[in-house]
Amino acid sequence: MDPTKLISEPVETKKWEKRVGSAAAAPSYELVSFKELPEYMKDNEFILNYYRVNWPLKEAFFSLFRWHNETLNVWTHLLGFVLFLGLTLANLIEVPQVSGLIAFFTRSFPMSGDINVSQDLFVVSELQRTTTNLIDLMSESDVTPVTRWPFFVFLAGSMFCLLSSSICHLFSCHSHHLSLSLLRLDFTGITTMIITSFFPPVYYVFQCDPKWQFIYLGGITVLGMFTIITMLSPALSTKKFRGFRALLFSSMALFGIIPGFHAAIVNWSNPRRNVTLAYESAMAMFYMMGTLFYVSRVPERFKPGWFDLAGHSHQIFHVLVVMGALAHYGASLVFLDWRHGHSC
Ligand SMILES: [Zn+2]
Repeated sequence: MDPTKLISEPVETKKWEKRVGSAAAAPSYELVSFKELPEYMKDNEFILNYYRVNWPLKEAFFSLFRWHNETLNVWTHLLGFVLFLGLTLANLIEVPQVSGLIAFFTRSFPMSGDINVSQDLFVVSELQRTTTNLIDLMSESDVTPVTRWPFFVFLAGSMFCLLSSSICHLFSCHSHHLSLSLLRLDFTGITTMIITSFFPPVYYVFQCDPKWQFIYLGGITVLGMFTIITMLSPALSTKKFRGFRALLFSSMALFGIIPGFHAAIVNWSNPRRNVTLAYESAMAMFYMMGTLFYVSRVPERFKPGWFDLAGHSHQIFHVLVVMGALAHYGASLVFLDWRHGHSC
């Protein structure tokens, strides 16, 4: 008997087993049709194919680079997140408070020519100088630097919403349990974005009237908390409650009409009124259109199966959300710029 045969045989067998093994394992990572889905995944009956079911986390992660019916849902909000991250960094680089602080420390640094008397006198004079500088800085800060945190609160809320949405769409195919948790994360993200969107306009418009800042920002935060708590109920994550969820989100957004009208009346003679109103109207239009697509599931309901990979309602909704957030970013820049020249 040829001894090499004895060695090569198990190798061959192993290769074959591996091939069979991988062929047997492959179907679980294949895309399936709507009919084959477990009940919990049956959300949109007009999307007929290209579903991932019970994929391990690793496979789900790498499906970022594969075509399935969630690919564009993931990428639309992932790119939106990257865009807002870029905008945040671009705005962070230019921080006037930092240059003010550097100037303060440079001015209070002792110069060699000053030390011509005793050490005690030097300490006293430096203390006086530091105090004067501090008072200078405080009085300057009353006039020039504008409070920027409300603007960054909005940017952070938008980034959280866009990133949690991408994560939800990417990993929901893993298991029923995880999909429920991720759906709640997604709804929490949307609610957070709505709440944080109120911060720049309400804060800057009512900067000289903190009572209204408190009423409006407190009101939307309470409404948002109620929405998040309601969404934690697993039953409300199901497709049956799609309309109810849309109603909750819309009522939060509609709450904005009250401070919106108030702000327009207070600033009726402000030359920037029309610019901000145009931006905010564009935002409202994008969000309303997005909600309509989300609820109606147009266009896929007219041609089931045609829009499985590209062009279905949820993808259009995602794009409109990013556009709405960008319009609101534009309005926030105008508010911020206006407050640079108009303190109380
Ligand atoms: Zn989504």
